[in-house]
Amino acid sequence: MIPDWKAKGAPVDTEVTEDRFLVLGPQGDMRIPNWPMPPLMKNHGNYIVSLGALCKWLGEQATELGVEIYPGFAASEVLYDEKGAVVGVATGDMGVSREGKPLDSFVRGMELRGKYTLICEGARGSLSKQLIKKFSLDANREPQKYGIGLKELWQVKPEKHRRGLVQHTFGWPLGNSVGGGAFLYHYGDNLVSVGFVVHLNYENPYLSPYEEFQRFKTHEAIRDVFEGGKRIGYGARAITEGGMQSMPDLTFPGGALLGCAAGMVNLPRIKGSHNAMLSGIAAADAAFKAIGDGRSHDKLDSYEDTVRNGEIGLDLRRVRNMKPYWSRFGTALGVALGGVDLWLNTLIPGKGLGYSLKHKKNDAEATGKARRFKPIDYPRPDGKLTFDRLTNVSFSATNHEENQPVHLKLADPHIPIDTNLPDYAEPAQRYCPAGVYEILRDDKGNPRFQINAQNCVHCKTCDIKDPSQNITWVCPEGGGGPNYSGM
Ligand code: SF4
Repeated sequence: MIPDWKAKGAPVDTEVTEDRFLVLGPQGDMRIPNWPMPPLMKNHGNYIVSLGALCKWLGEQATELGVEIYPGFAASEVLYDEKGAVVGVATGDMGVSREGKPLDSFVRGMELRGKYTLICEGARGSLSKQLIKKFSLDANREPQKYGIGLKELWQVKPEKHRRGLVQHTFGWPLGNSVGGGAFLYHYGDNLVSVGFVVHLNYENPYLSPYEEFQRFKTHEAIRDVFEGGKRIGYGARAITEGGMQSMPDLTFPGGALLGCAAGMVNLPRIKGSHNAMLSGIAAADAAFKAIGDGRSHDKLDSYEDTVRNGEIGLDLRRVRNMKPYWSRFGTALGVALGGVDLWLNTLIPGKGLGYSLKHKKNDAEATGKARRFKPIDYPRPDGKLTFDRLTNVSFSATNHEENQPVHLKLADPHIPIDTNLPDYAEPAQRYCPAGVYEILRDDKGNPRFQINAQNCVHCKTCDIKDPSQNITWVCPEGGGGPNYSGM
């Protein structure tokens, strides 16, 4: 897209020099040699970047080409014409009070109309969710699957830094029945990006992805990197994991879903940005051609075809059975079977193995009843290597105007206390990586569900994992949310 990116100062400067894969156990670790890894798991030739910095730079390039960008204005509503085709989006109203009344600062949202509207909201986008439902884009597809990714950015001591090292792990602290893994990327000026993914189909409602992440950093094979260093950023985001089987139809009259809004993450690689970029190019090409042909507000069929039968389809087809194997057989056997399947799908030309395994349940349905499990006793944070949630949230730089309607909507406000608390020990207290949901008790011990919406880091996990499917994330007032500029 931008062949002279180096000359134009793209913040892309740490080339991968070493790949390492570790399996962690409670007492030690085992390195998996690189030779059995399928080619797509090798990172040589790639770069380690801050996506926050890269997107800022891309924004500057686009602006120079005449593209108008409206940061701070969330697309909060889809606009349709009288025939039901999508004709654009509207940004949300600003200056509305917590009770929904206009304040002195009230400004009506803007309508942005176009011949085609391309939706690139990331995983579980609030408009994508509406569009998938309205146009039944997921009919006859497997349910979408998700993971929650948590990340910290660290500045480590120079002697601990190995610029260009990419390290992936799986295993401890997650047990065999909980899928997930971690990465450490050493890049830039003594920076290490450490991420931890927990598959959201875990059953135990007492599990806290955040606390598992904190425990991970204390493993003897990991902790040394961070000792003496400084955590300088924190964030969390749901990622799609359903792959090819779960990818909905991508087009509808007047537009298309792109990138993670459609679920284009390659799970074993823990990467989706490559496919998001390719889908952007494919959608732009299709829209450009259609507009040139005098068309508008119809379906961009050529985009769907390019994604499914081109580079993205090939990337996702090879790994399509990894997640189902992992979910069915646990980490030890599931990853081994998934690895063999991946190799065969890589070696057999064309469409590879002829079958695609199913995911069956969505992640909310996978949550088990609390009575089948015991609460997990997580260690207290030490404030050096491990941190409590609220301290970490302050490192996401999240910010919301306090006097605005709560952007986490409960379809039934009684469900958290009447259903989720007795049946599932209200897991929102633990799966939310920002401590937004709390059960508070009055003097008599009566429980109350509290939503601290201003802490939200927009990860969308509550919209996905609530066992009663009672929470809907909607766009807060424009400009609110985390600020991941260095992440
Ligand atoms: S409230 Fe929901 S979207 Fe916000 S941080 Fe918590 S789980 Fe994520």
